[in-house]
Amino acid sequence: MLNKMIKPLLASTAASLFFVTSAYAGGEAQTADFKYNLEPKKVSENVWCFFGALEIPTRENGGNMVNTCYIKGDNSYVLWDTGPSYIYAKQAYEAVSKVAGELPVKHVILSHEHDDHWLGNNYYKEVHGAEIIGPESINENYPIGHEDSRMFKTLSKNAIRGTKIIHVDKWYKETIKFKVAGVNLEYVPVGMGHSVEDYFLYMPDNKVILAGDLVMNGRITSNRDGSVEGQLSALEAINSKDWTTLIPGHGFIIDKTATDESVQYFTLTKERVEAAMDDGVDSTGIVEAVPLEEFKDKALYDLLHASNITRAYLEFDMGLE
Ligand SMILES: [Zn+2]
Repeated sequence: MLNKMIKPLLASTAASLFFVTSAYAGGEAQTADFKYNLEPKKVSENVWCFFGALEIPTRENGGNMVNTCYIKGDNSYVLWDTGPSYIYAKQAYEAVSKVAGELPVKHVILSHEHDDHWLGNNYYKEVHGAEIIGPESINENYPIGHEDSRMFKTLSKNAIRGTKIIHVDKWYKETIKFKVAGVNLEYVPVGMGHSVEDYFLYMPDNKVILAGDLVMNGRITSNRDGSVEGQLSALEAINSKDWTTLIPGHGFIIDKTATDESVQYFTLTKERVEAAMDDGVDSTGIVEAVPLEEFKDKALYDLLHASNITRAYLEFDMGLE
């Protein structure tokens, strides 16, 4: 009975699939690039940023769910994170050139190894000859030629094509202060925070911080390979700087309240997970015991909160690697 019902269905699906595939295969080379519709927002005298959606990466958003920034110097741009794909990077450059001028991108500086933040690297390397500064962990965890990380699996062909994994040219394990294209920058490593190796960029002259994913707002963070303690000390390091504008890795709040949600989320996570553990709650009950109702209405709560709490429990129970 089941067979009879399924077979005709399969037959017709196969037929339509064949039709679609053959029509698509012929047109693949000509399909237009994914349109990111990127609009740079001026956030400071010499800084323009692109703000992505408060979503996980999907075929529909093309990975445009991350924030990236252009810093304009004397005769070139310095870039903070390059976004989820070659095509995103190319369109970001075209968009920023129109409003801020057509200068080459000579330096790329990266916040951390999650691939929504740096798969635009090869556009800036190939087209602009940019030097890439970032965490050494990219070189260790993303082998050249293995195009199989999250964006490659998620994005459509017309968004991801042209994207290649390339390695960072330089990394720093200590805070480095440098002047690039006339702009003073401070690149600060904080160790394991949101990921295995995180950095933020401080611009002392205009009091701007580019925080990467150490700061998010309007949505729940993803602590899948980070550390609650590491996040809290990174947030302390960020807030010990004299800043007036802060660009989160994801989120739209950039004024002095930009870090409030992250500080609150990790402070409450620590307090409540530890309190629950003191009360004898074990790994099977911890998610239920720490709902953090203050954050229930934030984007991605249903998707990420439970795994963040499970991860926090592991961290406080036995430490992270
Ligand atoms: Zn991240």
